[in-house]
Amino acid sequence: MPYRESDFLPISALQHLLYCERQCALIHVERLWAENRFTAEGNILHRKPHGGKPTTRPQGRTLRGVPVHSYELGLFGIADVVATKAGEPPVPVEYKRGRPKKNDCDRVQLCAQALCLEEMTGQPVTRGEIFYGKVRRRVPVEMTPELRRLTINTAMRLHALIRSRRTPPAEPGRKCDRCSLQGLCLPRLGRLGSARAAFDRLLDAVSGTAEPGPINP
Ligand code: SF4
Repeated sequence: MPYRESDFLPISALQHLLYCERQCALIHVERLWAENRFTAEGNILHRKPHGGKPTTRPQGRTLRGVPVHSYELGLFGIADVVATKAGEPPVPVEYKRGRPKKNDCDRVQLCAQALCLEEMTGQPVTRGEIFYGKVRRRVPVEMTPELRRLTINTAMRLHALIRSRRTPPAEPGRKCDRCSLQGLCLPRLGRLGSARAAFDRLLDAVSGTAEPGPINP
């Protein structure tokens, strides 16, 4: 069933969900945010594609910072670049600061943009590209049935998480080393649920009114 605009969620939240459910809830339920080196570098990399003007060349037109949305997925966002050419489907291009990843985070984000463009233009979007700043090259991504299914399922999981208004407990791991929310999440105390609960428990422990509680190994 199509979503109402008031229920739309940002496409970027799909990435947060795939990276860490708790991170996703801290950002999109508890409205917490913090920058670190990785997020700051990502912002700088996005400035150019978002701020640039469209360009037209014999080989096609390049649109930058294109707003996209889908009523079917209940998502909205901004495609960094959309390359168009007469008689051919549009090609979304996403800019990333790092290098190609083993996980599906980036591909799902790009596929969500492709599904939005399909719904908005009525044209099939069969492929896209991800530009990785560290290796300075574009990686082609085919919009396979598997990737489409994963993207749709991730969007449904995202809506379910936001509707629940619940922050899942932390599952500390190597991902925490790169997470800008580590200082707010307190992953070793995060099994307590919301960031506020974890912080209150920490204060109680420091002031001597409670035992420190479960600390993850
Ligand atoms: S610090 Fe770890 S557990 Fe907490 S939000 Fe970040 S990645 Fe998730």
